[in-house]
Amino acid sequence: MQGELAAQTEWDYAPAPESREIVTIPSEYGLFIDGEFAPAADGRQFPTLNPATEEPLAQVADAGDADVDRAVAAARTAYERVWGPMPGAERAKYLYRIARLLQERSREFAVLESLDNGKPIKESRDVDIPLAAAHFFYHAGWADKLEHAGFGPSPRPIGVAGQVIPWNFPLLMAAWKLAPALAAGNTCVLKPAETTPLTALLLAEICQQAGLPPGVLNVTTGAGATGAALVAHPGVDKIAFTGSTEVGKEIQRAVAGTGKRLTLELGGKAANIVFDDAPVEGAVEGIVNGIYFNQGHVCCAGSRLLVQESVADAVLGRLRDRLGTLRLGDPLDKNTDIGAINSRQQLDKIRELSDAGEAEGAERWSPPCRLPDRGYWFPPTVFTGVSQSHRIAREEIFGPVLSVLTFRTPDEAVAKANNTPYGLSAGVWTEKGSRILWMAQRLRAGVVWANTYNRFDPASPFGGYRESGFGREGGRHGLAAYLNA
Ligand code: NDP
Repeated sequence: MQGELAAQTEWDYAPAPESREIVTIPSEYGLFIDGEFAPAADGRQFPTLNPATEEPLAQVADAGDADVDRAVAAARTAYERVWGPMPGAERAKYLYRIARLLQERSREFAVLESLDNGKPIKESRDVDIPLAAAHFFYHAGWADKLEHAGFGPSPRPIGVAGQVIPWNFPLLMAAWKLAPALAAGNTCVLKPAETTPLTALLLAEICQQAGLPPGVLNVTTGAGATGAALVAHPGVDKIAFTGSTEVGKEIQRAVAGTGKRLTLELGGKAANIVFDDAPVEGAVEGIVNGIYFNQGHVCCAGSRLLVQESVADAVLGRLRDRLGTLRLGDPLDKNTDIGAINSRQQLDKIRELSDAGEAEGAERWSPPCRLPDRGYWFPPTVFTGVSQSHRIAREEIFGPVLSVLTFRTPDEAVAKANNTPYGLSAGVWTEKGSRILWMAQRLRAGVVWANTYNRFDPASPFGGYRESGFGREGGRHGLAAYLNA
């Protein structure tokens, strides 16, 4: 079902499918509570689909209030009796074990992630899974050094962490949340997204394999109501959330006045800014990586291209050529660059906003591209003639859709880049180091990449300002969110 984006190239690729057989998907998955898998108390389940084919992969337990209650109680007991009092050097051993098991079983994780999420296997294999393992390795290294991390002589864990994560990087977001929390001595109740629960459950299996004491990690799968029950639970000391700004605001309201600690990593509408002295080939790769990586389902995606007017035609011409070489289709094919959109609901949202772009007068372009008959697909799309008032310049589309604006001076670039309620990330492409520093000082974004884009490292803090949320994940800053100094 490989699409025909490659039709413009002179030769074609033979299919290079990764084997689906490497992973065993049971027909039913239970909740992971107190070290064991069990059905929901009321027996409810929901299906999880392969978005590339719309076929059901498995039935997954749908956690209700009673299950969340049991998970929080298990986490509390494990915190008080085992994990909280355990020396950091001992906790580190478990985290190292989990990291190594993730590496050992990485192919299995990559295939399962691509099946459940729709992302290309080369992304899950080369980005998501290695980075998830890296987060466990990195935080294992901190577990016995917290007294020397600049948080005072004896920083203490907070207690039970309730963690709600989205569907765009299912395993990686679980690792971002769990690794620092566990390293700092907290216990966790994790709520994965409804459409992508499977790798979090495989991670739970790995924790069993690593001998992690029961109750230290609990996974309560379900929909938004399960997340809301976890957020509202009085036995939770800290909430960490990644997802939409809308739900983030709801959570902030729910947590207000309870004394619970909170970190929110929300949406974005990042500017990727290309100056006239930037090497065009490199900048075009950065634009493609910025918005078409992971089908644009990336909170820090470079969804607004700001290109200096004098080079706009050259950059856009080269960008169109490059998009013509991208291959859309079977996520398990190692040649695939663009996989499936994660859900029908997300596809509808991308379509609605793209239609609004056209209706408001922007010009829409996609390379020639036949979409597979089944599944959820959207071609890589570029909008030119976009003005700052257009919805596609203001709202998070969370899909493979780029809005192009132009600028003449650095001041104008800064003003346009900052003209958004978000503040998560930005990119700057220029040959001049001094200009990079000048821009970085003025861009109101938590992360500014220079001559690169979408680079992540467990040692590097990530997070936003304003409607992109608050708190940092990764690095020493990320640990602070899980410690009482
Ligand atoms: P949500 O913010 O709804 O989902 C994120 C997580 O929160 C999921 O686990 C979700 O469960 C859960 N959740 C939903 N409602 C509540 C609630 N009231 N209390 C606690 N937890 C809740 O994102 P969507 O999946 O609905 O995506 C909508 C839009 O959000 C996207 O189009 C995109 O623009 C943006 N988004 C941004 C992300 C980011 O990283 N910045 C990530 C994901 C989405 P469930 O999956 O079952 O709904």
